[in-house]
Amino acid sequence: MDLDIDQIGGACHCGRVRFRARLVDGLRSARRCTCSYCRMRGAVAVSAALGGVEILAGADMLATYRFNTGVAQHHFCSNCGIYTHHQRRSNPDQYGVNVACLDGLSPFDFAEVVVLDGVNHSSDVGEVREAGVLYFHAHPDAPVRAD
Ligand SMILES: [Zn+2]
Repeated sequence: MDLDIDQIGGACHCGRVRFRARLVDGLRSARRCTCSYCRMRGAVAVSAALGGVEILAGADMLATYRFNTGVAQHHFCSNCGIYTHHQRRSNPDQYGVNVACLDGLSPFDFAEVVVLDGVNHSSDVGEVREAGVLYFHAHPDAPVRAD
């Protein structure tokens, strides 16, 4: 896995939505979040600049969910339901992008992922707090890649 990858393609599960993402700080920005929505969604997200996500196909398939302050916009495919990317509340100049949608990548490629404290959101408490770190240890007999 190339942590410094700059540009990568992605798609939802059914493939109707296709996009290209230009990442900020490569895959090093991988995070999860404890907020009421993210903890239910369970995705690992990496950062892209606003304008760094180019929808190549299926823009008309994308639906948007907002809650609470309504600032963050969570986009997902209206056919398969998979979250593709979201415009952040903490930094509206950035998108979070679902690593599970990125070509050749899986959340299980990350041995550890920082979990942000989204319950005490940085926009409310004035600083980004970390809730912890999530670890994944591959089974020794597991194939290197599951796809
Ligand atoms: Zn889809």
